Amino acid sequence: MVSSRLSGYTLYNDANQAKQQFQSHERRLLPMFHPSKETVEAPASTGVSSPLRVAADASWLTPSPTLSLNERMGQQPSAGYPTLDLGFGEASFPLHPLLKAALQDAPARTQYAPVLGLPALRQAIAEHIVKTRGVAASADDVMVGPGSKALLYALLQVLEGDLLLPIPSWVSYAPQARLAGKRIIPVATDPADPCRLTPEQLTEALTSGQRESATPSLLLINSPNNPTGGMLDRGDMEAVAAWARAARITLISDEIYAELAHGWREHVSPACFYPEGTLITGGLSKAFSAGGWRLGYVVIPQSEEGSQLRAALSALASEIWSSAATPIQEAAVVAFTPNSEISSYVQSSARLHAAITTRIYQTLRALGILCPRPAGAFYLYPDFSPWRTHLLARGVRTSQELASYLSETWGIATLPGTAFGEPPDALRLRLVTSRLYRAKKTSAQEQDELLWHLLEQASTGTLSGQENWLTSSLPLVGETEARLAELVESLGALG
Ligand code: PLP
Repeated sequence: MVSSRLSGYTLYNDANQAKQQFQSHERRLLPMFHPSKETVEAPASTGVSSPLRVAADASWLTPSPTLSLNERMGQQPSAGYPTLDLGFGEASFPLHPLLKAALQDAPARTQYAPVLGLPALRQAIAEHIVKTRGVAASADDVMVGPGSKALLYALLQVLEGDLLLPIPSWVSYAPQARLAGKRIIPVATDPADPCRLTPEQLTEALTSGQRESATPSLLLINSPNNPTGGMLDRGDMEAVAAWARAARITLISDEIYAELAHGWREHVSPACFYPEGTLITGGLSKAFSAGGWRLGYVVIPQSEEGSQLRAALSALASEIWSSAATPIQEAAVVAFTPNSEISSYVQSSARLHAAITTRIYQTLRALGILCPRPAGAFYLYPDFSPWRTHLLARGVRTSQELASYLSETWGIATLPGTAFGEPPDALRLRLVTSRLYRAKKTSAQEQDELLWHLLEQASTGTLSGQENWLTSSLPLVGETEARLAELVESLGALG
């Protein structure tokens, strides 16, 4: 086999191999190859006369695992329990009133915005980047779009070369790269410390990609990280940036969770060390709990090549989405303009995510479950491999089967490691804590009041030592802990 089996993704070199794999049951795992019309056959026709036929090149697409899980929640009965939603990564604090007011002021802005974004918003984002990342940026370097997801795809579409992708990584990078016709070179991380990325791991991946005739020239990094919740420390980030500069690799730094660092590890952008080769993406979805507003940005290096890239992105955007929604852009100016109320809101959100995520982390560790310590966002990435034989006795061999077992038997919705590119037998899962902020059986208004109360409490910085108060306000936290404890007890003691 000419493929590297470092992860759930496979690097293909050969069209026949790709074709066989494409037709096999493993199609769900999104095997990676350079698609061309010759390598893919049209799916079997279901009706010769049908006027609707999906193009072969699109027929491998399946819905994003996170979004489809979200849509299934609420429909899915589970054995005797209401399902605990630890599956969908959505920030869910109430919208800040200043953003709400700004949107209410903007409904008449029905004109298209400029393709690159409103000048005032690009300026505010540039200033936010200068202030929070300590790198130079001007309004000209910023492009706004309908979510950072769309901009990440646009980048993959217009940038040259194949993609080095650390495993595990966010669910959409690999399908996007594949849609953009790129090969994926998985970068294996240490299962005992999947939050780290080192020059040695990168060199190994680069060499294996080159050996298989790929042309790796892009590296995607994401700190704070989805799915692990980990962050690269300053030393590791500097080493990764230095490695990328020496290898002439473009860094795409997905910093959508930067504002939600928990505080014990600082957020460092690789642009501090490698400004000419780093693209930063971010947006409103996580720090401002406004995923549905679909507002993201990319910051492009200040250089001749940066200007060319901006022109290519702008051309692509002009042919696909034209501009992000104008009223949303108007309101987003407020989010990125310095304001003590808004920064206190963002900081309080980060503190609450830290408190709840750390609490569940401590529970997992006390139960003997391996899990990297979360440093940002609202994710945990536990590893059940110590229970492999116990799980086997229940017919569970893969992370997919483990996720089904947890959902069907224990009413705990999670996403399996395979969704993040892990090999099937890695018994890791992603848990999301942001949906534990829901109180039970309350109206939307009561729910908002509770969350405002929590945010207020967090703004005074008094959360430590308040764990009991927090968990009594948030019963789903205690329920999650109790259910995890029952699960571990039922699996039996480790030998
Ligand atoms: N990057 C990561 C790592 C994410 O987890 C998400 C959303 O879940 C996104 C990007 C997409 O964010 P946006 O809402 O800006 O498209």
